[in-house]
Amino acid sequence: MADHTEARPTEASLRRALHRAAEGRALDVDEAAALLTARGEPLDQLLSVAGDIRDAGLRDAGRPGVVTFSKNVFIPLTRLCRDRCHYCTFATVPHRLPAAFLERDEVLQIARDGAAQGCKEALFTLGDRPEERWPAAREWLHERGYDSTLDYVRASAIAVLEETGLLPHLNPGVLSWADLQRLKPVAASMGMMLETTATRLWSEPGGPHYGSPDKEPAVRLRVLEDAGRVGVPFTTGILIGIGETLTERADSLFAIRRAARQYGHIQEVIVQNFRAKPDTAMRGMPDAELHDLAATVAVARILLGPGPASRHRPTSSPASTTCCCAPASTTGAACRR
Ligand code: SF4
Repeated sequence: MADHTEARPTEASLRRALHRAAEGRALDVDEAAALLTARGEPLDQLLSVAGDIRDAGLRDAGRPGVVTFSKNVFIPLTRLCRDRCHYCTFATVPHRLPAAFLERDEVLQIARDGAAQGCKEALFTLGDRPEERWPAAREWLHERGYDSTLDYVRASAIAVLEETGLLPHLNPGVLSWADLQRLKPVAASMGMMLETTATRLWSEPGGPHYGSPDKEPAVRLRVLEDAGRVGVPFTTGILIGIGETLTERADSLFAIRRAARQYGHIQEVIVQNFRAKPDTAMRGMPDAELHDLAATVAVARILLGPGPASRHRPTSSPASTTCCCAPASTTGAACRR
């Protein structure tokens, strides 16, 4: 992948952007990128501005100072995926799994166990269209009368809804407008991380999303918009530290804001920090820093306003509470995408 460095914003531009943010003025992409560099005292100020926005939202919602969360249980319907994201530890190969998919009974058992522990949501996590890459996935579905993974997702969501009362939240990856229409009646909400709008991270050999057809930013932006047109309450977010520039990161947040403003369907925005994992192609990359994560969560809150819940993904950081206490307004178990 070509080296893509950008000039770091000056201290003066950071101060100016902070001042504008504190005054509640509209920020542009360059100003948001400058805010992402805040550390030390400027970071404290940035967190304070974002925290005020969060608090105002909580007051408007009639629950001042109350941070909420929804308990959910993960249902990893399949860990097979047609994509090859270079940081992924979720997807695997068929011979490492007892079966390509969880059976219906296994799905229901996980959901019942979750309900017994007080969960309200069943969060379906799965790879993207595994049947298009893995014969084992195709055969498993065919033997049980399903044409596609999405057919099985729909059947499983209905089973969970009818037999356990948990509310399905679906994360099946890229969905068409027609897919969204079919799944909407069986799910309380759906989600898909935008991750980044940086096309070069997908198109250039060596990029983290190279070889992953479902990670083309234009495709994912289309899903965000289609979810809005169909009226699906939607969770999305960005992944930071995978090689994007600060301007690209800010641009990703602006893209989410555009969809949120146009359709009003974005219920939650996740900021997930990259952490290098052994056995992945990106094991040698440095982790995204905690302060970087904190600044990004704050900028997300400032750009998105008090409306959508914003949170970082707590599973990904050993010191997650530092950020969780800052501008995010909900916390809880994280969805995979
Ligand atoms: S799409 Fe998701 S599950 Fe598939 S390889 Fe990428 S991160 Fe992993």
